[in-house]
Amino acid sequence: MIERKDLLARFAAYSPHVDPLPLELAWDFAEKAHSHQARASGDRYITHCAAVADSLVEWRMDLPSVCAGLLHDTIEDTPTTEAQLRAEFGEEIAMLVMGVTKIDALKFESRDDAQAENWRKMLLATAKDIRVIVVKLADRLHNMKTLNFLAPEKQQRIAAETMALYSPLAHRLGMFKLKSELEDLSFAYLHPAEHADIKAKVGARLTESEKKLAQARTEIERVLADSEIPCRILSRTKTLWSIYKKMERQKKPFEEIQDGLGVRLITDTVANCYALLGIVHTHFKPVAGTFTDYISTPKLNLYRSLHTTIVGSAGDVVEIQIRTEEMHRSSEYGIAAHWRYKTGEQAKDVHLEEKMNWLRQWMEWLQDLNSPREFLDSLKTDLEFHQVFVFTPAGEVKVLPEGATPLDFAYAVHTQVGEACVGAVVNNKMVKLDHPLKSGDICRIVTRKGSAPKKDWLNLARTARARSKIRHWLRERGLVE
Ligand code: MN
Repeated sequence: MIERKDLLARFAAYSPHVDPLPLELAWDFAEKAHSHQARASGDRYITHCAAVADSLVEWRMDLPSVCAGLLHDTIEDTPTTEAQLRAEFGEEIAMLVMGVTKIDALKFESRDDAQAENWRKMLLATAKDIRVIVVKLADRLHNMKTLNFLAPEKQQRIAAETMALYSPLAHRLGMFKLKSELEDLSFAYLHPAEHADIKAKVGARLTESEKKLAQARTEIERVLADSEIPCRILSRTKTLWSIYKKMERQKKPFEEIQDGLGVRLITDTVANCYALLGIVHTHFKPVAGTFTDYISTPKLNLYRSLHTTIVGSAGDVVEIQIRTEEMHRSSEYGIAAHWRYKTGEQAKDVHLEEKMNWLRQWMEWLQDLNSPREFLDSLKTDLEFHQVFVFTPAGEVKVLPEGATPLDFAYAVHTQVGEACVGAVVNNKMVKLDHPLKSGDICRIVTRKGSAPKKDWLNLARTARARSKIRHWLRERGLVE
């Protein structure tokens, strides 16, 4: 477990101008609040808070986020109140802790992919601030690492939830390292036999590919040694889950899955990325059609690197990614790596514009949820989600625009449900068909056989889907133009 002083030191290393006092106070507060509580492992509860804060420090999150990491379970598990947190730590930290607490209250149950997507949207909407999601991801990472101490049913539920919700969220946030970690941890519980099998086989194959990789690295190091270009070389290995997925997709046994050799060259500037590429291509034979320039044309999530594949002297094919330190950080830590513009260093930050572009790209993914203009204007992450999330009695979530009515909900469930709708029960109370729905409402539509759409429904429905279905039905019968 990380100690108090080590956490402070690690935080100070990247935030030299930030007063760490709140961090010290948050540690002491959490330690005291949870003092009568232990983890399922038998460890003191503060070990969990510390591990969460430690991940946030690794991702170089700002002070309020790391404090929230320490305090994230105080509301749920101890008598601590929101008012108390606000008084001790201020509005921002209290808001982040409350955000995490709210997410914890959501119970994800469905295993259906479309439902999982709605849940992810709801999570984002509930979070309001992206940092809440990042704290929640750090929490989930440590819970997954200590999952072996829980009962089997709980392990299954939490692992399934991690695979369906949290790993895709990490992916969306560009946190690829975390995404892979969560996947492999879940994989071990969801498919224990397959996980153990692949793990053993990868272990057996490792020595051979390690030898090849070491040789490729030596060769590359040799040709780079004469240049003045600063460069460190990293080896890249496939995750167990990605091998399993590939076996499933290609319907091939482990032995036929090519575990390509991969190295990364990390340098200082973009110009040196291209210089390194030139050297590599001069000394090794590139495989035709494998070169991709993601620096001049970044991926949608702003991933940047040069990709090429070469043939080593022993005939081994080696995939090479070339990038700067900063690109490397972004690809490992995603949105967390771009967070630092908030920490008061923006004056010095020449890449601010670039980072804002990245956030803009990310927000574009959220376009189907809302209009993030306000967020972009204020540089704050309080998202205005003009949407409501309404449940069916069976626990499915329907995403509807703000102001949507039970009629919209009925048509979202099924056209036939809409057409036969005679009433609605929201949270066990009968409501009118123009009743505006709120997030978290449970809505049951009352239908009657032989009932039909009415002309005035066009004034009650808000969604394009419901309105067009109603109009279509009426037009077919000559009731409207
Ligand atoms: Mn927790």
